Amino acid sequence: MNNFEYKNPTKIIFGKDSIEKLTNEIPKGAKVLLLYGGGSIKKNGIYDQVKKALSSIDTIEFGGIPANPEYDVLMKALKVIKDEKITYLLAVGGGSVIDGTKFLSAAALYDGDTPWDILKNNIRSTKGMPFGTVLTLPATGSEMNSGAVITRQETKEKLAMGGPGLFPVFSILDPQVITSIPQRQIANGLADAFTHVLEQYMTYPVGGLLQDRFAESILQTLIEVAPAVLKDPTDYQAASNFMWSCTMALNGLIQQGMPGDWAVHMMGHELTALFGIDHARTLAIITPSHYTYNFESKKEKLAQYAERVWGVTEGNLDDKAYAAIEKTEAFFKDLGIDTKLSDYTKDFEGTAEEIAKRFTNRGWKGLGERQALTPQDAEKIVKMAY
Ligand code: NAP
Ligand code: FE
Repeated sequence: MNNFEYKNPTKIIFGKDSIEKLTNEIPKGAKVLLLYGGGSIKKNGIYDQVKKALSSIDTIEFGGIPANPEYDVLMKALKVIKDEKITYLLAVGGGSVIDGTKFLSAAALYDGDTPWDILKNNIRSTKGMPFGTVLTLPATGSEMNSGAVITRQETKEKLAMGGPGLFPVFSILDPQVITSIPQRQIANGLADAFTHVLEQYMTYPVGGLLQDRFAESILQTLIEVAPAVLKDPTDYQAASNFMWSCTMALNGLIQQGMPGDWAVHMMGHELTALFGIDHARTLAIITPSHYTYNFESKKEKLAQYAERVWGVTEGNLDDKAYAAIEKTEAFFKDLGIDTKLSDYTKDFEGTAEEIAKRFTNRGWKGLGERQALTPQDAEKIVKMAY
């Protein structure tokens, strides 16, 4: 196992009717900016619950953060933060609103030329304006980690940022919120969380026995609850297991002492930036070809995953490893998620070359757990996913 240091300071408040506990979490005297997305919270009652809990707190609102949080919109929120002398941020939404809030947390205290530098130059944020979250969509784990991904439509870019200063102070997780989520977004949440685990697990073995079993248990739980949450989002038992699995998939726990791949996400982000495909769906497109392309370096773990998660007992190591890729692709399809780029756009020719060019221009040295994948490797992987 590799060396590690681990600290996760986010307080989780989990359970039925937990949004009302918000009142106790905001410091006295804070001036709060309540941030939200396209308005789903106004239809499903979450907004009313939040407003009630904030009734004694000085609060201003900023709505309209789009899915794949857009830099230009966030810059407007940043102006509100500065003009109104905001001291505390509250994200009410899914990964997009929470990631956007993390960017604002960093940007509010950034004293460089332009906050875009945080993204462009990948500046680690060691401090940020304090913020809490009310999670409305289980998927990203953003509610308990310090990473964010921000989109800039003007340049068709989607770049990651983060740092130890960007953990939420608290996150409220009420599984009842999933009752209003459209099926497509529930499927996305399942696929995103599943892929988060795979990115941390499907590397060369380093003997992280406990991390492997943590990872496998999250994958098994997601597989187990997927049909139930898709069939009936009011099934509280399924919803709560879904929600906690998504958080545990990316709160740092299973990553400690492990190499971490993340190449699927890096390529996937480019597909969202170029075509606007939902984040989780880009991962379902890239995952099968990434594992097929990197079969030799990953086959030991693929076979272990086939055996322990999917119960594959037949065949030799290679057979099991191939079965693992097939099972994974079938899982995405069972969620109703297509796994080829051509399922989403007719305009796919040239995408692989464009992505390789982007990686080269950004000076990226290598993707994957060994940083061994060149932009040319990425080009081949994306082409396999057409
Ligand atoms: P999202 O983009 O936050 O939300 C997707 C859609 O679901 C929005 O239209 C939203 O509507 C709607 N929605 C959210 N909660 C709802 C509810 N309770 N009822 C009905 N509709 C609801 O989705 P996401 O998958 O959570 O986040 C995706 C983003 O996170 C991507 O940009 C991705 O790159 C990023 N990401 C971040 C991390 C990380 O660790 N930070 C990891 C993976 C991915 P409204 O806009 O109206 O609310
Ligand atoms: Fe993700």
